[in-house]
Amino acid sequence: MIRTPWKELLTIPTLIRRNRKSIETYQDAKLRSLVADVYSSNVFYRRLWDEAGFDPGSFKGIADLHHLPPLTKPQLKEPASLLREKPPARGRMVWHTTSGSSGEPFELVRSWHEERFLTVIRYWMMRNLGTRPTFREARIRVPADFDWLDDWLLRLLNSLGLQRSRIFSCYEPPDSLWRQMAAYAPDVLRGYSETVARVARYGLDKGLRNIRPRFVLVGGEVCTRLMRQQISEAFHAPVYETYATTEVNLIGWSCPQSGLLHICDPSVIVEVLDDEGRPVAEGEPGSLVVTALHLRVMPFVRFMVGDRVVKGPAPCPCGAPFGTLRSIDGREIDRLKLSNGSTLHAYELLNILLEFGLADGWMRQYQLVQDEPGAIEVRIWPLRPPGPGVVEEIATRLEQRTSGTPVRIKLVDKMELDAGGKFHLCRCSI
Ligand SMILES: [Zn+2]
Repeated sequence: MIRTPWKELLTIPTLIRRNRKSIETYQDAKLRSLVADVYSSNVFYRRLWDEAGFDPGSFKGIADLHHLPPLTKPQLKEPASLLREKPPARGRMVWHTTSGSSGEPFELVRSWHEERFLTVIRYWMMRNLGTRPTFREARIRVPADFDWLDDWLLRLLNSLGLQRSRIFSCYEPPDSLWRQMAAYAPDVLRGYSETVARVARYGLDKGLRNIRPRFVLVGGEVCTRLMRQQISEAFHAPVYETYATTEVNLIGWSCPQSGLLHICDPSVIVEVLDDEGRPVAEGEPGSLVVTALHLRVMPFVRFMVGDRVVKGPAPCPCGAPFGTLRSIDGREIDRLKLSNGSTLHAYELLNILLEFGLADGWMRQYQLVQDEPGAIEVRIWPLRPPGPGVVEEIATRLEQRTSGTPVRIKLVDKMELDAGGKFHLCRCSI
């Protein structure tokens, strides 16, 4: 029988107020129960773990997690195989389709209870950022894959003036978005980083100051310091980030004090691994691997998200008991193919572009594009024409990192979003 995760809600709120040790003890216990349940109820994982020689009887918790093989996206060609043998017979199931941007589109499912539980966890963590139930939230995004507005519970809360939000389509032009949002007067403005930055740039261009949320929450894609600066200036508000994936939902959110990302330890275990699968030291970059502690219908145990992140200290220096990430640097597949046969993580070039973008504020946005090996194009959408020699200087600086691979700089008058409404700082088609 599959249990719903609701009883965790008795523990989690107290956990958040306690110390790092309490969080780790909680995670250990939940992980042991997850691994035992998944091993006995899930053919896919049992086969995967048996092949790796895993002995469920000797599994003690987080310290033994590395004995389980990481699960990669290409292994999930048949996502239905991840389903437990006997999913709950009763109750609504909620299906999601993840974006196909890093491979094939992928369908995943959670029980209604799991879905709601994650929403509550997310809400709790958002309180950490200062949200309140009476706040109105404007969300700029693609139309929802799960229609919350059809949900009786949410309709009830809305009628009481709680949890109100309105979705604004990210496909609308910025002038129309600005007008509609100004009329809605949100307390919180939320959306994909570049879409929100795009609206912010429109407001800055036109000198508009009539959208004044208490804070802006971005996520869904990398938010660079340049984007953050533009957003904060246009809306006169602090900009916080959330980091989530469709598979496990919330992974982290900005710490308002330290600027690091708090990890959502009560619902996920996060590992940051190097190319050999070893844990990296604090301050080092690596690949993010996540285990969802409370998902049983379609479990994710040591799932390689495909994102490159930098490990931060645990606990956070702000005093909260959470582990941290220093930054989310982008997708692991964003590696540029150089003419000498080696690869370079796009982040190394994006950092240089950011420096130039911040220097005298002439860039609106930039993007790296690679359609053939050994040639890299940098698209820059300028706010005003660059100073003399600046473009050549950028190319020279970038080429110092590309081992002789030529870098072509192209000034453009717009940036394309992908079919899912997301913007990618790096677009590699090879
Ligand atoms: Zn903190």
